[in-house]
Formats: sequence, C-alpha cells, structure tokens
Amino acid sequence: MRIDIVTIFPEYLAPLRLSLVGRAVDARTIDLRVHDLRAFTHDRHHTVDDTPYGGGPGMVMSPAAWGEALDHICGRRGVEADDGAHRPTLVVPTPSGRRFTQATAQEFSREPWLVFACGRYEGIDARVTQHYAGRPDWNGVRELSIGDYVLAGGEVATLVMVEAAARLVPGVLGNETSVLDDSFAAGEMENLLEGPVFTKPPVWRDLAVPEVLLSGHHGRIAQWRRDQARVRTADHRPDLLH
Ligand code: SAM
Repeated sequence: MRIDIVTIFPEYLAPLRLSLVGRAVDARTIDLRVHDLRAFTHDRHHTVDDTPYGGGPGMVMSPAAWGEALDHICGRRGVEADDGAHRPTLVVPTPSGRRFTQATAQEFSREPWLVFACGRYEGIDARVTQHYAGRPDWNGVRELSIGDYVLAGGEVATLVMVEAAARLVPGVLGNETSVLDDSFAAGEMENLLEGPVFTKPPVWRDLAVPEVLLSGHHGRIAQWRRDQARVRTADHRPDLLH
C-alpha cells in the first residue's frame, strides 16, 4: 500500500515512523512518502494561502501549489495506460466531511494508494477537490471528518486515519485475529464497544479479575464478553444500539 501525505508541516507526521506503522514502513508493507507543500510554490516566501473571496476572517489555501503537488505525486499518466489498480484516492480531512469510521478504515486498508491533503487556516480552495474528483487518473476524492470538533490542521486527522487503516492491512499486526474483537469491528462488534480487559495478577489493590475469566471455560468467557460489550455500549454509547 502506498500513502502520500502533503502538508506544510512534514515534521508533524514523524510519529508514523514509530511503533506499528513505523515497523510496517520499515518492512515496506507501507510505502510512506511525506511531501512539503511549500516545495511546490514559486515565490520567495513560499506562500500557500490568500484572503478569502467574499471577505471574512482567516486565510484560504490557494489551489496552485496543491495542483502542482498532487500532479507531481500522481504523475500525469495517460488514462489509457491505467488499469485502475494504480489510481490514487485523494483524502481531504475536513470537519465538514463525512464521518471517518472503522468501516472507512477497513475500506482504506484495501486501497492500493491513498494521498492525504492536510489543510490549514480556513481550509483548501474548494476547486481542488472539484478538480481531482473529475480526474480520470485519480480514484475520486473523500472529504472526511474524524469527529465533531475543529482542529488547527489536517495533520492530526491524517495520523488518525493512517493508523486506523494501517493496523488493518494484512501483515501489519502481529496477531491478525485481535482486530476481530475490537470495538466497531465488522461483524458481531459492528455496533458494539469492547468490554473491559484484564491481565495478571488475579488480584490488584483488592480488586479481583472476574471469576469467569479464570475458569478456562471458552463458551462462558465468550458469552461474558458479549454481555459486557452490550453493557458498556448501553452505558457509553446508547446511540449505537438503535
Ligand atoms: N473553517 C473550517 C470549517 O469550519 O469547516 C475549519 C478549518 S480547520 C481550522 C483547518 C484544517 O484542519 C481543515 O482544513 C482540516 O484539514 C483540519 N481539520 C479540522 N478539524 C477536522 C476534523 N474534525 N476532521 C478532519 N480534519 C479536520
């Protein structure tokens, strides 16, 4: 899987060199490339923003540098030479996008090539998404929000989406079956949160691990976990049960 990230703060993406995703990058399971948007500007100050048409506060990211960066990444290949398997999908993090969920992460984990465009200020000139949505050598545009709050830039949202998708790419996690019991996992857990988990010792500060987990009885343990998932979901996220 190839992942390109365009940002004015390349250092912000450094955590992707650590831990699980970092190991996948080292093993070349994920081909990660981070690009500095300012490298695609031509003025002395490497300007990437301008005042908004229609007035109002804040600045908007200009389309010119974005166009150059994204064309450079994709390469302007002839569509006839394209078999569809190697077209990048443009991902634009934005609070005004559709919600990014575990199902989206699952979908992304099967994509051959994702390109993330990290906005700043008031966001990116809308013609950028419009243009790449219509380009036959791209696989469409996904405008996605990671939650109902506003961040200062798309970098943190990109970190979230890349990590959520990368851990679902075959070969990235040590134990592939561990994701099946996760909160929101496709199948039985789709609308459920995972219940509490425990490890040794059996008693810690007078708190004992639930008996059933020490019983060795797989059927009863599985039933207990299902019950706990429902209890926790009803408590923390009743909206998921409707
Ligand atoms: N004016 C924009 C609005 O109200 O929709 C907010 C712009 S925000 C200050 C700057 C950038 O942060 C956005 O372009 C986007 O890249 C990122 N961002 C902020 N909140 C986000 C969220 N909830 N999900 C994904 N990206 C977000």
